[in-house]
Amino acid sequence: MIQEIYPSKLINTYYDRAWTDADTVLLYRDSGVLMRGDRFPVIGECTGTRFTYLFSIDDVHYYTGEYEEIEGFAVRPLAELRTGVDRVTAFAAMTGSHLFRWYDSHRYCGHCCTELVHSRTERVLECPQCHAHYYPQISPAVIVGVVNGNKMLVSQYAGREYTRYALIAGYVEIGETAEEAVQREVREETGLRVRNIRYYKNQPWGMSGSLLIGYFCELDGDDTITLDHTELSLATWMSRENMPDYEDHSSLTAEMMRVFKYAGQ
Ligand SMILES: [Zn+2]
Repeated sequence: MIQEIYPSKLINTYYDRAWTDADTVLLYRDSGVLMRGDRFPVIGECTGTRFTYLFSIDDVHYYTGEYEEIEGFAVRPLAELRTGVDRVTAFAAMTGSHLFRWYDSHRYCGHCCTELVHSRTERVLECPQCHAHYYPQISPAVIVGVVNGNKMLVSQYAGREYTRYALIAGYVEIGETAEEAVQREVREETGLRVRNIRYYKNQPWGMSGSLLIGYFCELDGDDTITLDHTELSLATWMSRENMPDYEDHSSLTAEMMRVFKYAGQ
């Protein structure tokens, strides 16, 4: 999966680090990041004067800043980077986009509209007027493999260009456990009931600002699918033999489909 970058290591602890011209900078526009070929610019190639420390991977320090055009560089879509570049580069771009969007949408205090300032000791934005604190937001979401004998439920999202099969997925709502979210999402999107919910793995997914939590479970009772057409264009039972292997090693969904196909769940 995209976060599996061993032997490289993400160091995500914030500290008040002074940047140098050799440090890497992630400049985002729309859902893409500025690159030349497979590399990001360094601060020395920018005209900007204000950069925010994001994280380090091994001895490479990543910053973000205001988007600017740099000759020879172009914006590459994050979706393309998932499998189009080495995993460290892809993971840096995804994780940086999560932090960038959070910084970008937290410039002012939501209580009193005063400009926020960065704590010098941890990743938190502070209001100098009313002393409110804002921590980075991570939205938990579940991915669900519903198993029915030799078949597993696959779906396709409505209104998206992404036409590959996916698994049932959705955000955990306030006041419910992840397992309750599994039951609710499956029921809302397909009308099915499930039991024997088993945790599989989780992964950070910066593009949607979420922590994806994967579960396998079994169909409980009637296998008739009642599709929620606002969310999905299709949901169907897919046999192990026909389960696609997209050879996408970045996502938990693709791994869960492979696990079902080859190892069985
Ligand atoms: Zn305030």
